[in-house]
Amino acid sequence: MMSELKAQAIRAEALESILVEKGLLTRDEVDEVIATYNDRVGPMNGALVVAKAWSDEEYKARLLTDATREVANFNFDGGQCEKLVVVENTPEVHNVLVCTLCSCYPWAVLGLPPKWYKDPAYRSRIVREPREVLAEMGVNLAEDVTIRVWDSSAEVRYLVLPMRPSNTENLNEAALAALVTRDAMIGVEVLY
Ligand code: FE
Repeated sequence: MMSELKAQAIRAEALESILVEKGLLTRDEVDEVIATYNDRVGPMNGALVVAKAWSDEEYKARLLTDATREVANFNFDGGQCEKLVVVENTPEVHNVLVCTLCSCYPWAVLGLPPKWYKDPAYRSRIVREPREVLAEMGVNLAEDVTIRVWDSSAEVRYLVLPMRPSNTENLNEAALAALVTRDAMIGVEVLY
């Protein structure tokens, strides 16, 4: 595993050197992209959206109607949210995201996808046996909970609005946002 990472690092470094040498990009531009995805683009953005929806019923209704517009108003970096749909978890319905074809994912609100999201096993099994896969990932749903699997694509990406944890009535949006995890917004974790 370490040697695999090392090989990847060497490949990336070699590619960067060639592109810089040819004048196609600068080292500063590369550093800027890395800083963007480390510091400014990630699940902390999606968490702000979720916390706002938990705090404001009218906002939640607008978000569920037109997430593309509501999320655009945040002006997040990262892209890949040109057509975004937010799906709401309820006591009756649990939503989970996948891209069966490759790894489509809403970068602006979730950052870059985790490795398992791109894994062929996850991509095929979550469609065929979602209840089993979710249980393996720690989400044990009652038999009467309907599971909806949303297949992301280049055209439309999804974000799960998790259920608000209990005993959080007194928390403000910032404190609520701190409770929201990436996995909960993919639908492979439930917040308590
Ligand atoms: Fe994809």
